[in-house]
Amino acid sequence: MHKNFKNIDKVCYGRGAFDQLDDILEPKRAENDHFMVFVVDEYFRGKELEKRIPLHDEDMLFFEDVDSHEPTTEQVDRIRDQILAEKGKPSGIIGIGGGSIMDIAKATALMINNEGSSSLYQGLNLVKKPGVYHAGVPTTSGTGAECSMTAVLTGPEKKLGLKCDWTVFNQVVLDPELTATVPKNQWFYTGMDCFIHCIESESGIFYNEFSKAYGEQALKLCRDVFSGPDSGRSPENDEKLMIASLFGGLSLTYSEVGACHAFSYGLSYVFGTRHGLANCIAFQYLEEFYGDAVAEFNEMVRKHNIDIPKNLSANWSDEEITRMADVAYNLPHMWTHAMGHDWKDKLTKEYLMEVYRKM
Ligand code: NAD
Ligand code: ZN
Repeated sequence: MHKNFKNIDKVCYGRGAFDQLDDILEPKRAENDHFMVFVVDEYFRGKELEKRIPLHDEDMLFFEDVDSHEPTTEQVDRIRDQILAEKGKPSGIIGIGGGSIMDIAKATALMINNEGSSSLYQGLNLVKKPGVYHAGVPTTSGTGAECSMTAVLTGPEKKLGLKCDWTVFNQVVLDPELTATVPKNQWFYTGMDCFIHCIESESGIFYNEFSKAYGEQALKLCRDVFSGPDSGRSPENDEKLMIASLFGGLSLTYSEVGACHAFSYGLSYVFGTRHGLANCIAFQYLEEFYGDAVAEFNEMVRKHNIDIPKNLSANWSDEEITRMADVAYNLPHMWTHAMGHDWKDKLTKEYLMEVYRKM
């Protein structure tokens, strides 16, 4: 069966596009109880961007901390409960931040119309009713969360997305100026999420011309930003990386992530390692899957003088390594893509533990 995927309804891209947000939201304000909810990365509290948020008197503003942990089902439930208790049903939810905030916004929009904890809906097509209007304004580039049909949350039992057509944003506003303040290591880690999405997308059985068209262009842009003669931080490269992120995400939509994301999920679940960094930690040891792309990755790390922690496993217990291997093993769609439908005949948990022990 071929995928029949839901794309973003509307996209606004360019420097300063953020200032169009008020006009974009205006027609939506007539819906439900006539107020918007802005979910904004705590980083922007007191910064210049805070003053530019098109907040009307009736609106709600949540500053969310995504620095100490990745988004949780509890966090989404708390925001949803507070909105419904204090003001009723919003016209829309706007997420302004990196992948974490975008996922919180997507999940909250769904949970406004779905009862109980968001942890009940972690999985594919478990959400029962469409959510309210939701818009995403990324302030990092690389995750592809701006276009994906999943909102990844860490719950009491698993790290897994609320995945369905309704998760996809109705609107994204892509303003590359907003990413200029991302710290250098984070710029690299999140950017490498995109690079790795493209490499994984092309290294598996679900790859096809659709994924290839977006993936090749996204890879080219990543290489301009991270390894070409004009690589590094610049306004031009911020523009490129924002489009690379979107295209990398679209490449994945019609393909799949693979081994690196499986290992990365294990690290994030057991140790709370942030997604981009967890990918970078794992990718170095996956030459078997990704060949020359690993050397290319290592060269980009060197060129930009990025810190990627090493010898982590020295402090890991066997129990922790086993738990990570369990999490990684239980991602069948990733292994099917990476190794084929008979992946269970080829992959063992012992092998996964062996790779974790190298990290
Ligand atoms: P993030 O959103 O977790 O943010 C990382 C750090 O950067 C935070 O400390 C944040 O405060 C800071 N930050 C964000 N924007 C900034 C800015 N403009 N200036 C200064 N600091 C800024 O990082 P991310 O890499 O964008 O997202 C990772 C998250 O995205 C993970 O939770 C992961 O699970 C999720 N993700 C989701 C998808 C999806 O398809 N839904 C795909 C990949 C990753
Ligand atoms: Zn990713």
